[in-house]
Amino acid sequence: MNKGKRLNSIKTVEDLMGRCVVDDLTGHWVWKGGQSQGQPRAYWIHPVTGLEQSSHGRRAAKVLERGADLPKGQRAYGTCGNPLCVNPEHVAVGTRKQECAFHVKQGTLRNNPRRKAATLISNRAKSKLTMQDVEYIRSSPKLGTDLAKEFGVSTTAISNVRIGRTFRTEAANGFSVFNLSGWRNAA
Ligand SMILES: [Zn+2]
Repeated sequence: MNKGKRLNSIKTVEDLMGRCVVDDLTGHWVWKGGQSQGQPRAYWIHPVTGLEQSSHGRRAAKVLERGADLPKGQRAYGTCGNPLCVNPEHVAVGTRKQECAFHVKQGTLRNNPRRKAATLISNRAKSKLTMQDVEYIRSSPKLGTDLAKEFGVSTTAISNVRIGRTFRTEAANGFSVFNLSGWRNAA
């Protein structure tokens, strides 16, 4: 028995990657080793001291990548949203304040009108109804249940279209929701 040193100790970033499943699509290195509170916990050899360390997998990734410790008071934090990812390219090093600022910015991005527009367009693409269908549904005096049968969608989908919840139109300065009160009055 080789006492004091684990076999296959992690000494390089490549060794670390070897303990992960690499997702080709996202680039995540999904940690397959031990965990602590749902976070990757790695045993690795410090590049400077040569001593075995136990730390968060992300810290291991950054120290091994740099060949040196992180600056004092700085931490390795994930930037890709996958808690098990230890790809050093998906990990940033900074103070807790910088980490918080990063997460605030991410949250802001999620509420960003451009991103909302992209989601809306993508949802529209997934919809069974075309814009022509929507126009038809909106101008039709037929019952929602009949239209639902006609288009093979739920009555909720039809009423959402009618009240403008599902389909919006892009205006020069943001979005305007169809107002169907005119049609209702006309009918
Ligand atoms: Zn990742």
